[in-house]
Amino acid sequence: MDLTALKKRVAGRVDARAEALDRLALAIHSRPELAFEERFAADSLVAYLRSEGAVVRTAAGGLETAFVAEAGGGGPLVAILGEYDALPGIGHACGHNLMGTAAVGAFLALREVLNGIKGRVRLIGCPAEERGNGKVQLISGGVFEGVDAAVMYHPGDRDEIDPLMLAMVNLDVELLGKAAHAAAEPHEGVNALDGLVLGWNAMSALRLLVRSDSRIHGIITDGGKAANIIPDRAAARLMVRSPDNAYLADLRRRVLACFEGAAIATACQLKAEWSEVCEVVSTNRPLAEAFAENARALGRTMHPRRPNDTHGSTDMGNVTTLVPGIHPFLSITEGPVPGHSTAFTEAAKTPRALATMRLAAKALAMTALDAFADGSLIKRAKEAHNGRHP
Ligand SMILES: [Zn+2]
Repeated sequence: MDLTALKKRVAGRVDARAEALDRLALAIHSRPELAFEERFAADSLVAYLRSEGAVVRTAAGGLETAFVAEAGGGGPLVAILGEYDALPGIGHACGHNLMGTAAVGAFLALREVLNGIKGRVRLIGCPAEERGNGKVQLISGGVFEGVDAAVMYHPGDRDEIDPLMLAMVNLDVELLGKAAHAAAEPHEGVNALDGLVLGWNAMSALRLLVRSDSRIHGIITDGGKAANIIPDRAAARLMVRSPDNAYLADLRRRVLACFEGAAIATACQLKAEWSEVCEVVSTNRPLAEAFAENARALGRTMHPRRPNDTHGSTDMGNVTTLVPGIHPFLSITEGPVPGHSTAFTEAAKTPRALATMRLAAKALAMTALDAFADGSLIKRAKEAHNGRHP
């Protein structure tokens, strides 16, 4: 096969859909929906796929707003992922309106050029990235079964091939005591607020000892009902983050121990509930190199991460633990604009953002073609993956 000609063809098939893709991205931008509620976005993307004759399975992995479509036959299976949820209050401040659209564009373009090629592409519409770790549910729902590589992109303010995305977990702690009149019979009470504050202070002391690349932060969500009642309940929500999955596991034990000790000291009962872990993104080098080369051919130079940059956390991390994957950033802005800001919401609907979305669709499709054409790419990707996770 003539790979260069094939890549040119697939890029042309994205361009042929430019108007429809732009329209979809703008429509989704104008109707932002929160995690698990992305019905308009999912319905719009699915309707467009079906209008092109694609067979789409909705409610994939048991998530109402997830969807899956497949094309091709034989050869390696490359998953192309797209997100489409927004943030409370500030809409598409993470630019996810451009991600589901790019994935759909890449899939439809590939579908047209796969005749006679050994290779399969699975489009995965991924709900709930901003909250709820949708991809973790998709993984346990079997949506990634058989996948050899998973690729996606994220809009940003810099072209970055291997962004640092921290592993993260939420902890809800609840201290339960016994209410009593705070002046008449304090000796009858068990003070849950004291238990919580003692645990909080132990956690603050712990923060002085953790690695500077890791974070523990949170808020107290319940500190009692009235000043003249010994609080029988106090609660906090904490977040623990690290670029190192193993160190995160260690921090979890140590943070929990702060509150276990405090509960014993104050005779309270402790209830602790951990969320799913959002794992660190492990950028697969061979796949990243292929994507960077394709981006370069399309006029964009991908840069390595800068030492102190971090982009928060994403459930794509869990996917990259499971299979070789990439999550590069492509700039949609002229200069630095922080994500999750109203300025980024504005940026996510500009002509530059739409052009970058189409460029991302092409680069993702071209990277899938690399995997199909060059038998060694998936092999090298898997070797790198297994080296990272022995
Ligand atoms: Zn995002």
